[in-house]
Amino acid sequence: MTETTPQMPRTPVLELTGITKTYSVKSGLFAKPMPLQALGGVSLRLYKKDVVGLVGESGCGKSTLAKILLGLEAPTSGHVLIDDKEVDSGDRRRLSRRIQAVFQDPYSSLNPRKTVEEIVSLPLVVHGIGDGPSRAKAVREMLDLVGLPERARRGTPNQMSGGQRQRVAIARALIMKPEILICDEPTSALDVSVQSQILNLLTDLRQEFGLTYLFISHNLAVIEHLATRVAVMYLGQIVEEGPARQIFSAPRHPYTQALLDSVLTPDPDQFIPDNRLGSNYPNPISPPSGCRFHPRCPARRPICEAVAPPHIADTASRVVCHLHGDADTAVLPVSA
Ligand code: SF4
Repeated sequence: MTETTPQMPRTPVLELTGITKTYSVKSGLFAKPMPLQALGGVSLRLYKKDVVGLVGESGCGKSTLAKILLGLEAPTSGHVLIDDKEVDSGDRRRLSRRIQAVFQDPYSSLNPRKTVEEIVSLPLVVHGIGDGPSRAKAVREMLDLVGLPERARRGTPNQMSGGQRQRVAIARALIMKPEILICDEPTSALDVSVQSQILNLLTDLRQEFGLTYLFISHNLAVIEHLATRVAVMYLGQIVEEGPARQIFSAPRHPYTQALLDSVLTPDPDQFIPDNRLGSNYPNPISPPSGCRFHPRCPARRPICEAVAPPHIADTASRVVCHLHGDADTAVLPVSA
């Protein structure tokens, strides 16, 4: 009989529990401020080397979540844990050593008046790491890793193509050797021909450095290509999460199904897909009662308008929908 080593439970590198974010907004100069809940109890775990694809329509809260992780915004409530230790999201210095980001637009995220060497070495300068020669060496090595020639360090972003600028942005993000990279639509401002080069580079760098990615995108083809897990957001809440293969082959939440139905296919005989979502995206200042998706849901039931659905979870996935409560699954509270 062979002896088996007991599996130790994995600790997530990054864990979010019950993150809420509420802004106070005015609809006019003399109007009373109204609360706008951008995030309504988001919980998510990222394990080492995971690529978690975060998908959803514009305005669903994806970028607010990224700002909280980067310490650019503080959550109204909830916790951010790195390696099981709570992080004060106002502690930007500590967060930025562990979490870095690559943004959508390399045109506006890089200072056009600085040289590439100044841009890429800036995080080392800010954190007081190394001296001039060691920083210059680190920049040369990083440019080589992202596929830029050594001479690029003396250039400025306005002399470069979009793809080259995004490589500079990736080099700047990785020079601190972070464990987690937040990629916020990193290819959507690039030509299609360049997009795959940047995606392949991110894949290679993940292998090289053992990185964990939170990959935010509205492009489901990109998410399907890269992600190991997928979290689907709707109106500030994660409504379905699970292994990428499962989400793409057998989505359980009607919103996930509608998103996948709306993907264009290259088949010219296919009509423009109908995502069956009906009415427009609701106003987050007055979100719908019960299930927030119910006004647009083709599968809604009478209970959906009145009662918020529970989180139905097994060990690998979860879905927040009244259609999926059965005896084989655990029912968790909504903010779990
Ligand atoms: Fe649709 Fe009801 Fe499920 Fe919400 S809870 S997604 S309205 S079926």
